[in-house]
Amino acid sequence: MNDRHTTAVPEAWRSDVESVLLTESSIRSRVAELGKQISADYARLAPDFVVVGILTGSFIFLADLVRVVSLPLRVYFARAKSYSGTRSTGTVHLQDFERLQVRGKHVLVVEDIVDTGKTLKAISEELSRQGALSVEFCTFIAKQTERKEEGVPQVRYVGFVCPDRFVVGYGLDCDERLRQLPFVGIYRGPRE
Ligand code: 5GP
Repeated sequence: MNDRHTTAVPEAWRSDVESVLLTESSIRSRVAELGKQISADYARLAPDFVVVGILTGSFIFLADLVRVVSLPLRVYFARAKSYSGTRSTGTVHLQDFERLQVRGKHVLVVEDIVDTGKTLKAISEELSRQGALSVEFCTFIAKQTERKEEGVPQVRYVGFVCPDRFVVGYGLDCDERLRQLPFVGIYRGPRE
């Protein structure tokens, strides 16, 4: 049986996951809170409200989040990649941003996890270049780290703050694996 409150790592994932950091039920209630907050904050701006999900990591969070936002909105996706395995490559590759229709719109960028903030900074600069009226960020997880980049935009909505460990699940991967976990866990593999 699937227990949404459990902090025990299910048998099938024990070789990959050291411990459960966020249970399915804690994620669900936090996402509902974020949805309420975003609905209240953007109510006035609704006709021009655009949500941009950053692939691939945000796909589950975004799907859950937009279903608890009670406003009309448009959803677009674009791609950002900076990690290979459990390591940052140091370079952020942005893709499909030129196809977004964000000129004159209030944009809420939905991210999976903010680590150094390098990705966020690159996205913010790109959306401003494209004429977005406002750009705010919503991240599922903000990592507590000393490795913060300078000039990173403020994140307005943070689901959870987590320790500086490599995490997987609820959309977050390790080399495209483990995204489907309904909880978030600490990855067992060694940090190369
Ligand atoms: P940043 O540019 O903030 O350093 O890194 C952000 C990106 O790195 C995230 O969108 C995600 O793709 C990846 N990332 C950073 N930390 C983690 C982590 O703990 N787990 C996973 N799966 N990806 C991470």
